[in-house]
Amino acid sequence: MFWSDKIEQETKGNVFNVEHYHINDGEGIRTNVFLKGCNLWCSWCCNPESQICTPQLVIHNNLCNGCGYCCVSLCPQDAITQEEDGSIVIDKQKCTLCGKCVEMCPNSARELYGKEMSVAEVIKEIEKDSAYYKNSGGGMTISGGEPCMQPVFASELAQAARRRYIDVAMETAGAVPFETLWQVAQYVDEILMDVKFTNDEQFQTISNVPLSVIKENLRKLRENGKYVKMRCPIIPTLNDSDEHIGKLIEWAKELDIKDVDLLPFHQLGKYKYDSLDYEYTLGAFKDMDKKIVEQMKDRMVAAGINACVGG
Ligand code: SF4
Ligand code: SF4
Repeated sequence: MFWSDKIEQETKGNVFNVEHYHINDGEGIRTNVFLKGCNLWCSWCCNPESQICTPQLVIHNNLCNGCGYCCVSLCPQDAITQEEDGSIVIDKQKCTLCGKCVEMCPNSARELYGKEMSVAEVIKEIEKDSAYYKNSGGGMTISGGEPCMQPVFASELAQAARRRYIDVAMETAGAVPFETLWQVAQYVDEILMDVKFTNDEQFQTISNVPLSVIKENLRKLRENGKYVKMRCPIIPTLNDSDEHIGKLIEWAKELDIKDVDLLPFHQLGKYKYDSLDYEYTLGAFKDMDKKIVEQMKDRMVAAGINACVGG
């Protein structure tokens, strides 16, 4: 066995999804590997199941008909009970996240967010799409959550893909020390960096990392020759101002970043908050008006930036 095979088998991480055929998260057709764990917890996140580092069992109440048949009777830990009113309750202390109730539920009402996978297991999954990568110039995109919350796993995954000549992209918010970011980024071909705010006071509402860290990380990535695309969620009343767009243009020019995606806020991930029993604080927000975001894009294009809406 080669040393690299041993590392690929022994290095494990927490993965909550491997999704095939993405077209907006890097060049060509991508396979996205979503890692669990995030240090920001943005209120508009459309993948809230990514935020906690460990696996989570959830119940989709809209799908559960309260039959109680499979889950209550088959849980090896007796962790599931049915109340008199028919509702199903899980004792999280007893649950070992074995996943049996997920497999057995006839209505797909249960889901396990996250499981431990080795680098070798993930690579086996992404290699299924090798023909698409060759034809489209695509590859693997490591996403999350924040991939840099599992820097050893993300780094080994990127190296394993590269050993197979598979292009690697990474989505990151960059709110980590540069050494941690670089541990992964040095093996990545395309970095898709979230820039959520350009105002430190606003950034402090989602992070206790100073905004200057984000900008410095962008600068260092560029100084090290990395391709970076800025991806900027646009959320009504939070960051849809002319001033923010002006700052994004300034940052892009200063750091010689050619490509920017503007991502209009939507509520498509809201149902996941209900399943996770998390409060969704942006329920009163409307989806971002795409016409306004188009105007923002036009302003960026006029400034010489290759901006897109969506992506
Ligand atoms: S989770 Fe599935 S098996 Fe359990 S009560 Fe609901 S529908 Fe029935
Ligand atoms: S994941 Fe396993 S232990 Fe947990 S409730 Fe389901 S069957 Fe029981």
